[in-house]
Amino acid sequence: MLTDTHCHLFYDNLKNDLENVLSRANEMNVTRFICVGTNIKDSKESLSISEDNQNIFSSVGVHPHDSKDIEEGYIEEIYELMEFESMIAIGEIGLDYFRNISDPEIQKKVFRQQIEVAQDLNRPIIFHNRDADSDIIEILSDYPEVIGVAHCFSSTIETANSLLEMGYYISFSGNITFKNSHLSDVIKTIPMDRILVETDSPYLSPEPHRGKTNEPSRVRIVAEKLAEIKNVSFEDIAKYTHENASELFQLP
Ligand SMILES: [Zn+2]
Ligand SMILES: [Zn+2]
Repeated sequence: MLTDTHCHLFYDNLKNDLENVLSRANEMNVTRFICVGTNIKDSKESLSISEDNQNIFSSVGVHPHDSKDIEEGYIEEIYELMEFESMIAIGEIGLDYFRNISDPEIQKKVFRQQIEVAQDLNRPIIFHNRDADSDIIEILSDYPEVIGVAHCFSSTIETANSLLEMGYYISFSGNITFKNSHLSDVIKTIPMDRILVETDSPYLSPEPHRGKTNEPSRVRIVAEKLAEIKNVSFEDIAKYTHENASELFQLP
């Protein structure tokens, strides 16, 4: 069994075909899904999907790109959404200095405010990091009780090691299958009990589907690639990543 720990099922291309998307996933033995919000509005859409499906869970959070659009009271809305049983994490939150769609100062403020909710509720965070390694590490070190996952990891071994030391899990997505990927060396160093897999659907479709709409069934391709790089069996990767997801997100 596999858990896709990061997908965005509320986007039209997936939501409008959800039944088929889920049945294709089940055919690949992908049986659990974490549908990750990127702002308050789509976190609510995510919640309505997860409340209707036993094997889909949700997170609520404001993405760094959306940080510039927060409204007063958004933290209270996060608290309210976290009361639902299928809401299991705060995310996706983080920093993105590659695109800088929101001003970095706003990104950092919104990132911290949401980590504080996670700390208060004792829930894990799902974070996004692009070209922001040192600020990510600096901010996370201010909240030593908080743990979570570095989603779509694409940084260096040094950053991975700092995150592992702080108790974080490292999640890999379809970009590990791309020809120019530098991630093999990083993957080899991550202990089996700290790895997760994800698709980031509808983005980041793995080879040979690169450029097409991604969907959770393809988390299997990510897991197969991890097995190949780590030189372990596919069954081991499936078992560990599924159990790691249960452990981090306290899934049934
Ligand atoms: Zn992301
Ligand atoms: Zn995402």
